Amino acid sequence: MRALLALLLLAAPLWGGPAELRIEFIDVEGGQATLIVTPAGESMLVDAGFPGHGGRDADRIAAALRRAGVERLDYMLVTHYHADHVGGVPAVAERVPIATFVDYGDYAGGGKRGNELAAAYYAVRSKGKHLVVGPGDRIPLRGVEIDVVAAAGKFLEKPLPEGGGPHPACAAAAVRNELDENGRSVAFLLRYGQFRFADLGDLPSAEELRLVCPENKLGEVDVYLTTHHGVDRSGPPALVQALNPRVAVMNNGARKGGDPGAFRALATAPRLQALWQVHYSLKAGEANAPDRRLANIVEGMCGHSLVLRAQPDGSFTIVNLRTGYREHYPAQPRDRL
Ligand SMILES: [Zn+2]
Ligand SMILES: [Zn+2]
Repeated sequence: MRALLALLLLAAPLWGGPAELRIEFIDVEGGQATLIVTPAGESMLVDAGFPGHGGRDADRIAAALRRAGVERLDYMLVTHYHADHVGGVPAVAERVPIATFVDYGDYAGGGKRGNELAAAYYAVRSKGKHLVVGPGDRIPLRGVEIDVVAAAGKFLEKPLPEGGGPHPACAAAAVRNELDENGRSVAFLLRYGQFRFADLGDLPSAEELRLVCPENKLGEVDVYLTTHHGVDRSGPPALVQALNPRVAVMNNGARKGGDPGAFRALATAPRLQALWQVHYSLKAGEANAPDRRLANIVEGMCGHSLVLRAQPDGSFTIVNLRTGYREHYPAQPRDRL
């Protein structure tokens, strides 16, 4: 019995045990690859980075899976059919079994590149279960509640429990409608007890504002993954102020995303305590987060993740795997509660 217990302890994931939510922001150099492991031990990868580069992104994802003790992905969520999101899925499927593929449905765009990416994805998707989601649906990952708020260019109609009510920042919000593949992104909010996390994929500003203007249907979150890698045509101030995050994580690359306008928008969030970035942005200069909150600084010496571990009381810790530096954010009641 004692030997068995010792074995179980050794086999426990390096970061966190079963009673916490773990989110790893994996460096795919300006794409998205976010690994969610729930307290119930289920896993979902949100996007899989780029194809090519000798399997670079899939290798980094495989390393993250090992760190989290995940041997099989329960869900592979593809937010949309751009190369930096869906491109890495076939290479990930070569490295780990995937049970269920989640997306907005078949590729709704056009063009040779998009069709090729979609075809490569369908080839692996056909080997697992397939779940098409729309706004108002819940992705059935055990241990957390994941509400889809947008998909395929459709948007949540009724507010989430934490949302509702007019949003004063909307008057100043400029709305340009540019529904394209980014605008079809699957966007979701995750709830684990009091902890809330928002990932809106690559939604452009006009589509994000449909979720928070004139009514704030989303409500406040603890952690906001900056939409669209921190480009300045996503994540407008009205969206950031509606989510009012305590912490923002930007999944930018050295040269992709990380636009100065995104940093200016984040600075308007009243509660924001800290910004973490997957990369130093060569475009942002002094607006960049301090080095200790940057997972990667030098181009060509990359691949480091940020790991978030959240408790049901809403407290959470973020660890920089490049250095081991960590910050703890204690539980803090939201205004609306
Ligand atoms: Zn993208
Ligand atoms: Zn995109």
